Amino acid sequence: MLEKEGLNIEKVIGEFEELTKNAVEVQRETLKRILEENGETEYLRSLGLRGRVDPGSFKSCVPLITHKDIEPYIQRIADGDSSPILTRKPVTKISLSSGTTQGKPKYLLFSEELVHSTMQIYRISYAFRNREFPIEPGKALQFIYSSKQFVTKGGLIATTATTNVYRSEQFKSTMKDIQSQSCSPFEVIFGPDFHQSLYCHLLCGLIYSDEVRFVSSTFAHSIVHAFRTFEEIWEELCNDIRGGVLSSRITIPSIREAVSSLLSPNPTLADSIYEKCVSLSNWYGVIPELWPNARYVYGIMTGSMEPYLKKLRHYAGNLPLVSAEYGASEGWIGTSVDPKLPPELTTFAVLPDIGYFEFIPLKPKVEARELETSDSHAELEPVGLTEVQVGKEYEIVVTNFAGLYRYRLGDVVKVAGFHNSTPKLKFVCRRNLLLSINIDKNTEKDLQLAVEEASKLLAAEKLDLVDFTSQADMSTDPGHYVIFWELSADNAPKDVLQSCCDCLDRALIDAGYVGSRKIKSIGPLELRIVRGGTFQKILHHFLGLGAAVSQFKTPRCVGPANANVSQILCDNCIESFFSNAYY
Ligand code: AMP
Repeated sequence: MLEKEGLNIEKVIGEFEELTKNAVEVQRETLKRILEENGETEYLRSLGLRGRVDPGSFKSCVPLITHKDIEPYIQRIADGDSSPILTRKPVTKISLSSGTTQGKPKYLLFSEELVHSTMQIYRISYAFRNREFPIEPGKALQFIYSSKQFVTKGGLIATTATTNVYRSEQFKSTMKDIQSQSCSPFEVIFGPDFHQSLYCHLLCGLIYSDEVRFVSSTFAHSIVHAFRTFEEIWEELCNDIRGGVLSSRITIPSIREAVSSLLSPNPTLADSIYEKCVSLSNWYGVIPELWPNARYVYGIMTGSMEPYLKKLRHYAGNLPLVSAEYGASEGWIGTSVDPKLPPELTTFAVLPDIGYFEFIPLKPKVEARELETSDSHAELEPVGLTEVQVGKEYEIVVTNFAGLYRYRLGDVVKVAGFHNSTPKLKFVCRRNLLLSINIDKNTEKDLQLAVEEASKLLAAEKLDLVDFTSQADMSTDPGHYVIFWELSADNAPKDVLQSCCDCLDRALIDAGYVGSRKIKSIGPLELRIVRGGTFQKILHHFLGLGAAVSQFKTPRCVGPANANVSQILCDNCIESFFSNAYY
């Protein structure tokens, strides 16, 4: 698939077209390959498949499972049982999911097939992207970070899926083929200290400013975080470039050595960066200003990343935002074939040979204005990849080469259309209920929409919402929702924040919530403002638990499992407002 001068775009797209035209057969064939490979494992043998590899037998023998069901098997593997438990091939690595949605990372199996499918999806997504936004050979300013790794009781390396991928040999060669070589040396990506790595990513990006063709990160949150930091440290970066000496804040020897070797005194570049920075108005368009040959900003911008788009657009100025692929530590799902679409409209065409996919139909969530009782997300029998219907919502079920069989991923997607015969999915939200006190059920998406609505009231004050989360507070009687906001400045007028609080309460339109608020079985919503830097502290807390910045997603609800995060929010609260809605 790869040619000497890079990727043969038309060939990659042509192969993808063939695969997606024959999605029914490709799915059947993919399932057959997975079952032929792993039919003799302890897990599948115990289910009585007896060598059968057709979808019918598979569905009748193998139950739908969640991570909880498979955890004991994975734990045995991590503890050193090397018999074929879930996969025929021996497992050598464990992946840790980001754990920011559940409160703790999930253990999953990592395999060479996952590296292979990662490279496959990177190539396909690059081919579609490059057809719309062709770039010259060059470099990428990538805010990517590895996470800590440790060895399990059974001697297996455990780290986040992204780190497992970055460490693979295939990653390096594929990045070269798709013009995505990072400006930063590997020592920076694999550095043990996130702050030092971030500083050096920015510095290396500036050193190679003319060669940078795009700016990216895995999740868009990391780009916004990087430029918020840039606003504070840009002068120090200029000094390093002017004098050719790396700041003393970089103390890790491997990073110092690698980055120092790229630095030499360059007052012309330093002056030009300085001039550009001082002439910018509130950092609008800083990316195209400092990286004039960058053609787009790239990363996962959908789902829980949407709240960061406003700030990202501010930094990106006139550059398009291009959404990256859809996947999880469990495996990949799909890629955007319409890279020109803004993130809010992005859909993902499922790769039919990357796994065997089923979809549990979900009944749409009922809103207060439609019905008095809510019957949210009730479910039916799963259907196959090509049997899904446009406009309907589903939970994804994955079967793949990483030892997952009919595994409920926990993501809700909506079918937006088809690309040939494979569906194009719009990411909706994580399935797990977010806020609930009694009959109310508000998902991550409901909260996101309410916050988006209420934060519009901040625009007139020239304030940004930096980040947010929520909690169902049962310590009061009745219980009530608490929404935590960090703002770009701590001087918001009280009347504006009161209006935001009222708006949040009214913007949650789930029937169970509205009904409970009216009869006062849920108390007035509380908006708590936390001081600047609070969400950074939350990020650090998760990094301490082994999470990777590259996979970090702010938890949108802080449940009992997250007592430490709750404490951070509590310690940093500076003001609180109670809603006057429903009086
Ligand atoms: P993790 O395994 O910790 O990296 O988290 C994977 C989860 O991130 C998925 O199950 C999704 O909920 C979310 N996710 C991954 N890619 C996307 C995407 N392109 N758009 C929206 N959410 C995504």
